[in-house]
Amino acid sequence: MPSSPTRSAVTPSAPPLDLLGPPLDPVGSLRRTDVVVLGGGIIGLAAAWSLAEQDHQVVLVDPAPLSGASWVAAGMLAPVSELHAAEAPLVGLGLAALEHWPAFAQALTEASGLDLGLRTEGTVLVAATPDDHRALLELLDLHRRLGLASQPLTRREARQLEPGLAPGLAGALLIPGDHHVDPRLVARALALAARRAGVRWVAAAGSALRCRRGAVEGLVLDSGVHLDAPAVVLAAGWRSAAVDGLPPTLRLPLRPVKGQILRLATRTGTVEGPRHCIRALVEGAPVYLVPRRSGEVVLGATSEEQGADPTPTAGALYELLRDAVAVVPGVRELELTEVGVGHRPATPDHGPLVGPLPAGSGADGLVLAVGHHRNGVLLCPITAEAVRAAVEGDPLPDALGPFGPTRFSPDLGGATLEAWTPLPEGPAPR
Ligand SMILES: Cc1cc2nc3c(=O)[nH]c(=O)nc-3n(C[C@H](O)[C@H](O)[C@H](O)COP(=O)(O)OP(=O)(O)OC[C@H]3O[C@@H](n4cnc5c(N)ncnc54)[C@H](O)[C@@H]3O)c2cc1C
Repeated sequence: MPSSPTRSAVTPSAPPLDLLGPPLDPVGSLRRTDVVVLGGGIIGLAAAWSLAEQDHQVVLVDPAPLSGASWVAAGMLAPVSELHAAEAPLVGLGLAALEHWPAFAQALTEASGLDLGLRTEGTVLVAATPDDHRALLELLDLHRRLGLASQPLTRREARQLEPGLAPGLAGALLIPGDHHVDPRLVARALALAARRAGVRWVAAAGSALRCRRGAVEGLVLDSGVHLDAPAVVLAAGWRSAAVDGLPPTLRLPLRPVKGQILRLATRTGTVEGPRHCIRALVEGAPVYLVPRRSGEVVLGATSEEQGADPTPTAGALYELLRDAVAVVPGVRELELTEVGVGHRPATPDHGPLVGPLPAGSGADGLVLAVGHHRNGVLLCPITAEAVRAAVEGDPLPDALGPFGPTRFSPDLGGATLEAWTPLPEGPAPR
């Protein structure tokens, strides 16, 4: 009997490595370049593309580009709805990062010919219970004190914007300036644009930075091959600190924060997906739904201090689905297409470490682009611009001033780690 057609659900889709072109064999074909970018997530790819656009010869080193957090991310560009009090210093960076997005999206769309799934309808924040509503009103108050655009909605207004919302919700806000993109489309576009701009890809891990007389000389690959370059950009996500040969005075307190996330799809003839990005608090627990034009709906995400554990767990997925159904009952009818797990590269203050190491650090020519935690997609264009500026000796965007690469390194002018009280995972993980 012929078997009926089946579709493999819940298996993560593979990143589009073909767009980067065939990987190079560094032995013989390539030993010297202007810049090596170590790590091909969304941050490394964007940095590599922006450098190659300025005519630098760039080699991207990664055994499995896009195999990290970038491939599972939801894609919210949401500095306002993401804000919570303990992270107030990040909002300035987030807003500045958002301002970089329109020009970045236009340039990337032109360079790749691909759509990025950028949607600008705004974000609806929803409270399920009276206690959640109180938390939402506190957030509204914080928005007002910081002068951020945020608008309370009556239940009727909320349901006019989002007919799929459950009738009994306690309250809602509209954040008109918080947008979203499809990070997988952005990744595809970056891979293609990087290749077209001349970025060459080596499918190997970087094992050690090579420095001589206080300056970067290049990188040793795990195969033992040496790549010579006067500039190295470290962009290997939460694994960045594992690279050997970094200056001993440089402290990189990076840790993986596990996120479990689901991909769902609308089905013809059943319920519609949401029209906006919906972020909700359900008895204090955050959950979000991010719709794509394709009919995909991303439902996320947990935020767990479990080290590098890659396992999806039934309990976490049950809770995400339960809370999403409480806010948008039609989620029950969507098709489950994928379960993903990623690891956000987190720092003690939840801010990134971006910029060149200062002269005298022992690694002149090393540029950091790490620690983007929950906001790597939002921060991708401003980080790429900062990396280009760092390599060319230009000033970095002002908003990155408080997020310098040595701020956790007392011997390089930063504060001691004890001075940083690690922030708890706030009420808005993603
Ligand atoms: C569930 C979830 C949802 C998220 N949602 C959002 C969101 O809505 N909005 C937002 O802005 N951000 C979001 N984020 C955060 C965002 O995904 C990350 O901040 C971002 O992807 C970090 O990008 P990256 O390039 O630094 O790291 P990664 O994407 O993790 O890439 C690191 C790369 O480095 C490579 N690598 C590691 N070690 C080496 C080595 N030794 N040599 C060579 N290569 C190496 C890996 O193979 C990998 O390809 C989310 C994250 C998660 C987990």
